[in-house]
Amino acid sequence: MSSIASIEDFSAPLFVAWQLTNRCGGRCLACCEESGPDKAWPDELDREEAIGVARQIAETGIPYVAFGGGEPMRIPYVWEIFQTLSDGGVAIKIETDGGELDDAAVERLAGLRVDNVQVSVDGATAETHEALRPGAASFAEATGALRRLSARNVPAEWVFVPSRRNLHEAVAAYELAAELGCSVFVTGPLMRLGRAALDWQNLAPSPPDWVATVEALEARAAAAGGPRLAIYPWDIETEIQRRLDSPQAMILIVPNGRVKLLNALPFAPGDLRRQTVEQAWRSYQQAWRSQEVADFVARCRNEPGLLRHANETWPVPSVEAVDTV
Ligand code: SF4
Repeated sequence: MSSIASIEDFSAPLFVAWQLTNRCGGRCLACCEESGPDKAWPDELDREEAIGVARQIAETGIPYVAFGGGEPMRIPYVWEIFQTLSDGGVAIKIETDGGELDDAAVERLAGLRVDNVQVSVDGATAETHEALRPGAASFAEATGALRRLSARNVPAEWVFVPSRRNLHEAVAAYELAAELGCSVFVTGPLMRLGRAALDWQNLAPSPPDWVATVEALEARAAAAGGPRLAIYPWDIETEIQRRLDSPQAMILIVPNGRVKLLNALPFAPGDLRRQTVEQAWRSYQQAWRSQEVADFVARCRNEPGLLRHANETWPVPSVEAVDTV
């Protein structure tokens, strides 16, 4: 008998990734979601619906929710969602550009069950960061947020998205993360998704340059005194195949309440406007085992252009959405 757990062993997910909105202030060149100031979806969950989902997550006993972008901290009722989860014993992770994290916001986060806050900083200088992340939080705002979080003992993680235009600053960025008191420096291969895919030829580092950067970061991190170095090992095509082979006990909730398999895949078998979290979890389990999803993943290996559909929400016809609230 295998001792490796599969998703069918769980009555609910262990982890929820939740995109509250697709709107944000930026037009970042490497954004995998193609988010932006005018990119809110027309049918995003409203306050009542979103707080209802948060309540269900807590009641279902899901231990961890990670909020990603668009920009969660610009949602006016985000604090009510955080409070609902925190009061229900759910740990929170936040991915943000850092622009909303002034002293008062950091103080509020320190009083909640926040596991960590990730702030995107795509360079070691204002010039590089702001060229790659136009409209998003400035370099001073993003690094100031990391400094404030660390000072208040909220674990602060620097997220560095590599591209041809910033690889030369990766080690300097790590050094600065150390100075700011960050707990982790997070990076990994550029994902061929969203806006990054649209300008792939100009943005993607060459494989040898990426390998050299990883080696330089590892050498620096081996010296005492820096944050933990977390380098994601897979490119997006490998990630999709691995997730198909061994789906994780996590769901992705997108802004309109649909439940997706993965941000890189367009399949959205669940719908929290019509289903409970537990019902959507069953749809998610069935979808990962469906022929439609297996066929699509197999095609992605030779046709990376299929990933242009990543931010869409397709039904999975073979998954019967018989469960409704
Ligand atoms: S990376 Fe973040 S701030 Fe930049 S466009 Fe995407 S969601 Fe917006």
